[in-house]
Amino acid sequence: MNQLQIRCQATPAIRFELYVDGLRLLPAYCVSYEQLVRSTEADGQYYIFTCQCGVPGCIGITAGITVNHTDTITHWHITDPVQQTFVFDRYKLLDKVQLVRKQCIKLIKQQLLQSDASVEFEIFDDEHLQALFDGLVTPTARG
Ligand SMILES: [Zn+2]
Repeated sequence: MNQLQIRCQATPAIRFELYVDGLRLLPAYCVSYEQLVRSTEADGQYYIFTCQCGVPGCIGITAGITVNHTDTITHWHITDPVQQTFVFDRYKLLDKVQLVRKQCIKLIKQQLLQSDASVEFEIFDDEHLQALFDGLVTPTARG
């Protein structure tokens, strides 16, 4: 069984990094949190790794990761850009995907607090943060 670790960075755009067994997976590529979440919900092909702009083909990825689930196990078959197969505990994976969401919201809050005095107070409202996060929009100070 492989161990997945997910890290979230605000630099200042929100970025995710995946580590398997302690090693960063495909560091040249961006991680789509949305695709990662969807991949936990059903079998299929998911473009978890993509270009910074969100279009996987832009950075040369033509095949998504094939994800299969059993009751307790999630398999990842990566073929592009490298051939790799990973086996994860399905429920640990789900927990980590949920946990990083919370960590990311915390990061966005910190970033907003540090960024700019002109950030409107209402942006600290949790619902607004959630919306920012759902769209994976880079939080920017509004004038
Ligand atoms: Zn691009």
